[in-house]
Parts: sequence; structure tokens; C-alpha cells
Amino acid sequence: MSQKYQPVRGTHDILPDEFEKFQAVVSHARRMAMLDGFREMTTPIFETTDVFARSMGETSDVVSKEMFTFETKGGDSVTLRPEFTAGNVRSFISNGLQQKLPLKLFSTGPLFRYERPQKGRQRQFHQVNFEWLGDDSAQADAEIILLAARFLIYLGDIKTPYTLLINTLGDGQSRDAYRKALVDYLTPYESQLSEDSKRRLAKNPLRILDSKDPSDQNITQNAPKLTQYLSDMARTRFETVCALIKAQPEIQKYVKVEIAPSLVRGLDYYNHTVFEFVSDLGELGAQNTVLAGGRYDGLVEHMGGNPTPAIGFAAGVERLVLMLERPDMWQPSNDAKILLIPSEDFDKNVVLTFALQLRSNLRLNNASVEISWHGNIKKRMEKAGKAQVSHVILFSPEEAEKKQCAVKNMHSGEQTTYLTSQFSDADFVNRLFTIVR
Ligand code: ATP
Ligand code: MG
Repeated sequence: MSQKYQPVRGTHDILPDEFEKFQAVVSHARRMAMLDGFREMTTPIFETTDVFARSMGETSDVVSKEMFTFETKGGDSVTLRPEFTAGNVRSFISNGLQQKLPLKLFSTGPLFRYERPQKGRQRQFHQVNFEWLGDDSAQADAEIILLAARFLIYLGDIKTPYTLLINTLGDGQSRDAYRKALVDYLTPYESQLSEDSKRRLAKNPLRILDSKDPSDQNITQNAPKLTQYLSDMARTRFETVCALIKAQPEIQKYVKVEIAPSLVRGLDYYNHTVFEFVSDLGELGAQNTVLAGGRYDGLVEHMGGNPTPAIGFAAGVERLVLMLERPDMWQPSNDAKILLIPSEDFDKNVVLTFALQLRSNLRLNNASVEISWHGNIKKRMEKAGKAQVSHVILFSPEEAEKKQCAVKNMHSGEQTTYLTSQFSDADFVNRLFTIVR
């Protein structure tokens, strides 16, 4: 019996229909990134394990449970990247990019986390990722959050509502004061905490606020809030960020801004502003956080570089694709899709030569040129209608005689006869087949 192979658990094939939506998300993100002056870069899909362990922290969920780590034949421990920031910062340091600050970096590609697969949660997934190094201002925080908002608001054909959850972790001084208060509060409950959180109590108590364990959540509900421990400087800074965001008309129209005191993000290196965007559309179920980010001024130094302020965010492509599944959210592009239909007895070399000429002349357009060779002409026309072809070019022997062909616009139904010689004129071809959406 032959074995039937399946994709590995938590991975999936992105077939052409889905890939169109996938590409729509990625190209839109890229366009929004360029608009803000970001430039794209990419790093290897795997790094020395320590790059992630050090940057994300041993007690994080990702490092302690979710990494795909393996040993190379040479005996080195390497890990498939679970996020972009660590690799980008490693690259920033190893390439000496310190000289080039400020830097705005866009990246996209696959990431790997060993988690329980469910809707909107895979073991191989994709993100679009934005990193801005070298600016520590409150204005930079607002600017990048507004870029995130613009990316989401203008993603689909219709505007959909989001909630922006935002919090500040404050500066070092604020965090130290708060950490102490939190440990004092949690210590009497130690025996009731989850095993993970017991470990975190000594190493990284703020993490406990991030716990998904119901018993932990019960206990942390009444924990002191970080806002009470903010230094004046950190508080003023956060107020500036929030005021700038709330003043934007696009935010006022489409985004509910909520201060979320328990939002601490899972990672060690965040400080000041942290944020998440949640889709209010209801299509995503429990996995409705589509984008998350924050400031991580301590990371570059922690990884061995010079102190460098930085802020960034990442959005999950698969979760955004799920939103585009809504029929009103996204339509495939109306690019020219041209199908040549010659009658069976037509000289095939003439048709092919004609198609090749069309492809040359349309190479700068978003167009496709295909030939349907076989079968009853009427059936081929019907098939073209179903396949969303925009133009059919019909070749009958009678027309060939007159060196003509008939072009049918499948949207309007209009059919016009042209001299085949006209098709050697690129301008004519462009005008004929350019469809404005
Ligand atoms: P969650 O709480 O859902 O596990 P996270 O805090 O681990 O999220 P981040 O590391 O901040 O997520 O990643 C940013 C975004 O990447 C998420 O908001 C989500 O859209 C997407 N994402 C994260 N993990 C996965 C996954 N396993 N599958 C699909 N998308 C994911
Ligand atoms: Mg996670």
C-alpha cells in the first residue's frame, strides 16, 4: 500500500486562491512600510539558539516551550526563528549598522513555534515585521502605532473596527519599584500559582501578568497596577503618546483605544510603550490579536551592541488572511486576463507567435496571456467566463483570411474586430487591455 503523505501537524499548504490573499496582505504591508521610509531586509531562517534565548529570555513561553531547536551535524545548536526582532538585532550588530542610524526595517517571511495548532495558530506561520532603531522619542512611538493602524484600516475593501490595547511598562526605575510591589503581593499566593508562574516569581514576576492560566489570572486580577508606580517622566511620556494617537481622525473613526494595565507582552526586553491591535470583526475567534509590538530600548545592548533605542511591531499574516476571507473584504484584482481562443484548424504557430508578441508588449502591465487550444468554441467561451477572463481574443479561419481577430470584453460583453497588425503597437495593446479597477 502506498503511503499518503500529509503536511506536518501545524503546517499548511498555501494554495493559489489563498496565496492571492496572502500576497495582498504582504504587498499592502510593504507599501505602507515604504510610505513611512522603511526598507526591506531579510535574515537567515535559523540562528544560533542563543540569539533567541538571550534576546527573548529563558523564562518566556517561546524560549521555554515553543522553539524548534536542533543540532547541526557539526554539533552546534541552532533554532528556526520564532520571531524577527532577535535576528534583526543580531544582524544590526554583526553588520555594524550602528553607523547607519536611524534605521527603519521591514521584514516578512515564515516563523516557527511549537504550539498547539488551532484556527489562527500554526507551527509555521508568517509575519510582516517593522523595526525602527535609533529614535527614543514619544513621537516615534505614536508614529509607528499610527503606521500599524493605517496598515490595518486600509487592508481590506471595507474598513473594519479594531481595538488598540496600549500600556506603558515605564522606565527602569518604574519597573523596579513595581516589580517589588508585585512580588510582595504575589508571594502569599505562591502555592496557588501555576508551575510556570512559580518559576517566574523569582526570575521575572511581570511575566505572571501575561499568564493564560485561569488560576493565575484570578490571583493577578487584584494585583497592584504598574501605572501606580510610574515615574513622572514615564507617565508624561505615555500621556504624550496616547494624546497623539487619539488626535488622529482615522483612529477616532475606526479604532477604540483602551489603556490595558495588564498588557505586559511576553518578552523581557520591552520598556515604555507596549501595544496590541485586536480585530473586532469576530471572524478570528480566540485568536483575534492580529498585531503586537512595543519599545525595546534595552535589547541591542543586551545582545552585545551599543545602547540603541528601538521600537517595533509584527502582524500575523495568516490571521489577516482569515479576515480577508469575508466576501466583502477582498476581491481579486481586476488585472487584464487575456485568453486566446483559436478554432481547431487554425495555424497553431501563428497563434503562438501572436501570444508571444502580446506578452512582450504587456510585460510592464499586470496581465496574463494564455491560449485555450482544444474543444468546442462555445464551451471554451463559457469556461473563460467562469475563469474570470477579462478579454477573449477569437481567431476564426475567416478572420485569419482578413488578418483580423475579434476581441471580446468579458465584463461589458462588447466585441470588436481589430487588424492583427495593430497588436505590434505596444501603446495600442496597453490601451486596449488596461482595466482600471
Ligand atoms: P499569542 O498571545 O496569540 O500567542 P504572541 O504574543 O505569542 O501571541 P507575538 O509574538 O507578539 O504573538 O506575534 C505577533 C503576532 O503574530 C500575533 O499577534 C499573531 O497575529 C501572530 N502569531 C503569533 N504566533 C502565531 C502562530 N503560532 N500562528 C499564527 N500567527 C501567530
Ligand atoms: Mg504566543
